[in-house]
Amino acid sequence: MTKISDYISKNARQNVVEAIKRANDNNEYHALLSLTEERALERADAVDRGEITGRLAGVPFVVKDNFLAFGAPTTAASRMLENFKAPLQATAVEKLEAEGAICIGKANLDAFAHGGSTENSAFGPTLNAYDKTKVAGGSSGGSAVVTALDIVPFALGSDTGGSIRQPASFNGVIGVKPTYGTVSRYGVVAMASSTDTIGCFATDAEDAELIMDIMAGKDDKDMTTLPDFFKPAEAKSGLKIGLIKDTMTDDVDPDVKQVTLDYVELLKAAGHTVDEVEMPIAKYALAIYYIVVPAEVSSNLARYDGIRYGHRAEGASTLAELYGKSRDEGFVTENKRRIMIGSYVLSSGFFDAYYLQAQKVRTLLVNEFNKLFEDYDVLIGPTTPTPAFGLGENVADPIKMYLADIMTVPASLAGLPAISVPAGKSTSGLPIGVQLVGPRRSDAELLALAKSVEKA
Ligand code: GLN
Repeated sequence: MTKISDYISKNARQNVVEAIKRANDNNEYHALLSLTEERALERADAVDRGEITGRLAGVPFVVKDNFLAFGAPTTAASRMLENFKAPLQATAVEKLEAEGAICIGKANLDAFAHGGSTENSAFGPTLNAYDKTKVAGGSSGGSAVVTALDIVPFALGSDTGGSIRQPASFNGVIGVKPTYGTVSRYGVVAMASSTDTIGCFATDAEDAELIMDIMAGKDDKDMTTLPDFFKPAEAKSGLKIGLIKDTMTDDVDPDVKQVTLDYVELLKAAGHTVDEVEMPIAKYALAIYYIVVPAEVSSNLARYDGIRYGHRAEGASTLAELYGKSRDEGFVTENKRRIMIGSYVLSSGFFDAYYLQAQKVRTLLVNEFNKLFEDYDVLIGPTTPTPAFGLGENVADPIKMYLADIMTVPASLAGLPAISVPAGKSTSGLPIGVQLVGPRRSDAELLALAKSVEKA
């Protein structure tokens, strides 16, 4: 696979033309919803004239289609926003452009980022880069696949409960979900505001580090952003690493467990110590997540009423009918399911029993992580319980689909940095990723560790 450095100091127009050709040649994967060709070529020419310079001058990239960006519509893979043209760009996109990077297209996702397979896209699923009968993962499936197919050297995604890490794992690329607040969420369609994060896919840890370094930092337009703490680093020696036993149960695919243990051996060989640790609360993480996140989803999606925002249905004769029809046509089934669950857990009489209780257990989860980080620098486990599953396999069973998120949601609920690194293949040749989780603001250290293992 190509690296960012392979594109630097080359003719930017040629970089863009070739990336767009690769995108068109790989149309069958349905990884991209649109190309931003005209704008990309204009920017490339400006780079070639020396008018735009920077650390990413002339490097093509792709953004998930829930990021507001110029040059194509921003649909969030939904009919609700099918014709929406962004009046501004996401801060993350602006920062990359300020370094000369060139966005060539918008990647497919589960509508409004609700899902883990990209099958919830209103425009059809993305296929796995290694096996077209398997899912790409999600919700940032398109971004993972364009990186894995080497259409572009990096792509942006959002991760609310695993949407960068899981597709990264399914497609054999690195995926970075930073500490909550590392990268501005301004200009990204909101899903669940207390766990939404912005991160990237890249071919290796060094490239991911560069992209995170550029994107990180305080933004006045997102009050949850942290002052810039991300400083590229080299791996420390003799780290104490905890292998989370609760992620290595009999329910986990044997190939996934083996690849995780192989990665543990690499860490040991590099001089780190690895102990098994227990995290009993982890078994509640999914239940907490699927209460808190739908609650926030129901609130964030309330604005799409067909009047102020979003698709407006034809032929309604009353206001109530206009709301109902617009939302019915604009949202996919999974969006509606989450709006209903969220409204239910927030409603009077159920709020205490579900939402409040979930937030309390969430605090216990945070405490348990904090306690583990008193003794350990990094926690490790598989990113997902299985390699990529078959297209259509989990569609009829939402609980089965949600179970695929069991290993990624704990770090999201606690706001911790977590990365998925490609670590091996299943016996049938599907990529398998391993997840590294660290304390808040240890993002650069996690990437440094991944870099040192890649080198070894
Ligand atoms: N698969 C998870 C969900 O459906 C994660 C989604 C995300 O991170 N956007 O909620």
